[in-house]
Amino acid sequence: MSVITGTTRLLGVMGDPISHSLSPVMHNAALAEMGLDVVYVPLPVRGKDLAVALEGLRAIALIGFSLTIPHKQAILPLLSQVDPLAAAVGAVNTVWWTPQGWQGTNTDVFGFLAALKVLNQDWNTTPALVLGNGGAARAVVVGCAQLGCPSIHVVGRDAEKRAQFQASWSAVEIQTRLRVHDWESLGQLLPHAGLVVNTTPVGMKPKGNDSPLTTELIALLPERAIAYDLIYVPQPTRFLAEASARGLQTFDGLEMLVQQGAEALRRWTQQEVPVGTMRAALQRHLGLG
Ligand code: NAP
Repeated sequence: MSVITGTTRLLGVMGDPISHSLSPVMHNAALAEMGLDVVYVPLPVRGKDLAVALEGLRAIALIGFSLTIPHKQAILPLLSQVDPLAAAVGAVNTVWWTPQGWQGTNTDVFGFLAALKVLNQDWNTTPALVLGNGGAARAVVVGCAQLGCPSIHVVGRDAEKRAQFQASWSAVEIQTRLRVHDWESLGQLLPHAGLVVNTTPVGMKPKGNDSPLTTELIALLPERAIAYDLIYVPQPTRFLAEASARGLQTFDGLEMLVQQGAEALRRWTQQEVPVGTMRAALQRHLGLG
């Protein structure tokens, strides 16, 4: 970590709970390499304290912060400006101070798409299937729409939340492509999926033996399907291990985590950021590869 002096300025990550956050590890590694007199700290803030926390952070001239559960949607009405991408997602994960007030964007879409950029894929003929309809699924749906996927099927387990999810989109390009289904529909959906994304926590450490899809369901995926799991530990998840055993192309969530963080740091510093350093710091911290 950088030496903290009387001139050191602050970035941070706000959430409740926040002690599990990996963001300080990757951001402080990058800030040290960039030689900036800035440190990135955890900001434990309860939901009911969000507005007063924003006032306090303005008073101490914090540069900006990341947001995690439970603040990503709750912060929207408290910001002076939300960019169109975050408005489309309906959630903000990156905030910075301007003379006009706090402004926000969502870098999860950038992070989700960054890993897929290595592929030479015709996305206009690639139907997407998203498992789960929580916060991360919203960024994935917007990402799939940006790719040009002709249909975006979302599977959720709770009828009320499914109806809310279907009704929550204002952008026409999403409304026309999006179909929300129950979990039992997977048998019909999987044989047509070109990209299947797990946005549920099923399979995450310490329940690394769980999978959102049974072996029988994974067998239904087409040979050229791409399997993407937003989970980053364990590597691979059982879902990705079984997809890989079938010969499918797979992506885990580590690159998304790194790239959403790198995009946020670009916003805050207006500089190029050492993405490799951020990735290596996370891998070291998580004991990966
Ligand atoms: P969230 O808002 O709580 O959403 C989780 C979704 O998974 C909900 O739709 C939930 O359904 C569903 N779900 C949970 N347990 C399930 C089960 N046993 N069977 C079927 N569905 C289940 O959480 P989130 O913020 O979207 O995060 C979800 C996952 O993505 C986490 O593992 C997180 O670590 C990962 N993530 C990764 C990145 C990255 O950068 N790689 C970024 C964001 C999130 P109900 O609402 O019905 O409970």
